[in-house]
Amino acid sequence: MKITRITVFQVDLPLEHPYWLSGGRLKFEMLDSTFVRIDTDEGISGWGEGCPWGTTYLPAHGPGIRAGIATLAPAVLGRDPRALRAVNEAMDVQLPGHLYVKSAIDIACWDILGQVAGLPLWQLFGGDKAQPVAINSSISTGTPEEMISRIHKAREIGYRVHSAKLGGHDTDVDIARIEAISAALPTGDKLTFDINRAWTPAVAVQVLNSVAARDWVEQPCETLEQCAHVARRVANPIMLDECLHTFQDHLNAWQLQACEGIKVKPNRVGGLTKALQIRDFGVSVGWQMHIEDLGGSALADTAAIHLASATPDAYRLASWLCHQHLAVDPVPGQGARNLGGFATPPDTPGLGVRPDEDALGAPVAVYT
Ligand code: MG
Repeated sequence: MKITRITVFQVDLPLEHPYWLSGGRLKFEMLDSTFVRIDTDEGISGWGEGCPWGTTYLPAHGPGIRAGIATLAPAVLGRDPRALRAVNEAMDVQLPGHLYVKSAIDIACWDILGQVAGLPLWQLFGGDKAQPVAINSSISTGTPEEMISRIHKAREIGYRVHSAKLGGHDTDVDIARIEAISAALPTGDKLTFDINRAWTPAVAVQVLNSVAARDWVEQPCETLEQCAHVARRVANPIMLDECLHTFQDHLNAWQLQACEGIKVKPNRVGGLTKALQIRDFGVSVGWQMHIEDLGGSALADTAAIHLASATPDAYRLASWLCHQHLAVDPVPGQGARNLGGFATPPDTPGLGVRPDEDALGAPVAVYT
């Protein structure tokens, strides 16, 4: 089997409401998503999606994915899409680094492998059944009252795990937010305070040693080394996200004892192949993981939910569904959706999501 064509679509994904992160310094209203269809000489096609969360969240942006695919296409065309390791090696030789541009191609190849095998991706990832995955809300930065109101809205559609976005330089403001949100959280709900790199180590140590909350704290500072510094000085379990890209970053995090958990995001780490390797490493060292994607429609969400679903309970926390924040749905009704606070991956072979191409508009590039 050979890859004969790579077709690229650009899709704007407006958010239903403006969204603020990192103590309010980062605002998001529109995501730039890239959908990829890979065709083969045997008539089987696979789909992937790459969608950074805006341009300010990570060193990643939508146009970068499309430019990267133009560079990668000659190295991918003619290859067997079922040979995931070889496809990834070819991409890494053609364009070292730039992990986020490779994810959509990698996901589309997994979709093809699953269809050829007649198995859903969760089964290829080691799962024994389509295990429902708890999903977590994502609570935009605001005043304590605004954030508590958003948590209550999320609860109305089933969410019992929440990620509250904090951060800034005023320690008193974040101490007040943490204490108000903790006091308002209904019994049994779970919470992570996600700082999105906004604190200096000094602010992190001061805030976290001033509050009673012992909930997860995510990506308190910019770098891995700064987060490790904080982890040694606070009682909260630390989750890492934006500072982890390569497999080596994850080894470094383990060696520095920088965290008790990680976010595994296929788009950030270069696709499902690399995310699977990281998931297995995380299980080996005992990390607890949120497995979800950076952003995108229910297509990207579903790819990540397949991997989350196939991860043992003890190592899997909740997963976020980006598509619940969108004002549009390019894959109507398909894939892993919120059903009372849980999402279950499809049982059909492969990814189980196929976009309506008319809804995607004309391709922006076709490589043959
Ligand atoms: Mg995060």
